[in-house]
Amino acid sequence: MPTFNQEVHAARKALRKKALPEETASLFMVELSQLDRTDLYLHYDEEMPKELLEAYRSGMARILKEEPMQYVLGFSWFYGYRFEVDERVLIPRPETEELVANILIEMDEHFADQKTIQVVDIGTGSGAIAISVAKEEPKVIMMATDISEAAIEVAKKNAKNLEANIEFAVGDLLQPLIERQRKVDFLICNPPYIPQEEALENSVKNYEPHVALFGGEDGLKFYRQLFEEALKVLNTKAIMAFEIGYNQKSALMAEVEKVFPTAQAEVLKDINGKDRMLIVRFL
Ligand code: SAM
Ligand code: GLN
Repeated sequence: MPTFNQEVHAARKALRKKALPEETASLFMVELSQLDRTDLYLHYDEEMPKELLEAYRSGMARILKEEPMQYVLGFSWFYGYRFEVDERVLIPRPETEELVANILIEMDEHFADQKTIQVVDIGTGSGAIAISVAKEEPKVIMMATDISEAAIEVAKKNAKNLEANIEFAVGDLLQPLIERQRKVDFLICNPPYIPQEEALENSVKNYEPHVALFGGEDGLKFYRQLFEEALKVLNTKAIMAFEIGYNQKSALMAEVEKVFPTAQAEVLKDINGKDRMLIVRFL
């Protein structure tokens, strides 16, 4: 049997040949072996157990076909929680963890005097945002929706695994709330925002659900639709928080000023310095 070191080395070489990120070789080994990095280094010169070697090789074969590592593993880490993911849902992104962090800050700053905070996460996908926010802020009463019934099945499983109490609904944007005459203090949405014609990496384009990615011709379709009906579902004092594309700030700020002239709006950058989050406050 090859050692851990030899096997990771061979995988790096195969990835390099296809111009794919080489770090995936060791990241995949860490997650698959359930050893943390330090433990893995300690075992580096030992022979790999047969079963692990087989799993690593068959997984790497899929990764070399550009399937995302998280689908191969069947899970993804988000905000310190382990979410099950498969082709039915978008893999939650690190930028979105920053959205969660900022939502929690907004709640502390603006809803500290309320006993409960009514929240909805529109387009919940794996449930990453809804579940993390509900776990981190016990005052939250969370509803999560998606137009994809298959995605809601995944989100329900994650809520169960992570012991989060969430009300799920399938439906188009705000429709589930309007039907139930439900009003919220906080509306969260990471909509599909990629322009229809934009070129994407193979790992995204060939494996992730297109219903989770594309937001019409300019990527802004879902924001416009949400803005149009938002006041039907928001309490008088309310906040909306969206993830946005790095180049959508000025178009979205113009849209917000037009539709909500009295609201307070702000775009926040992610750690890479890219415009990434839009906060709209009705205070
Ligand atoms: N919230 C998850 C996250 O941040 O990882 C997934 C976000 S993904 C970019 C967008 C989600 O919106 C997908 O799960 C997709 O199924 C859902 N979606 C697309 N169109 C929708 C619509 N008209 N109404 C509700 N959800 C929709
Ligand atoms: N960040 C994702 C990507 O670049 C897109 C997520 C979205 O459209 N909300 O693939």
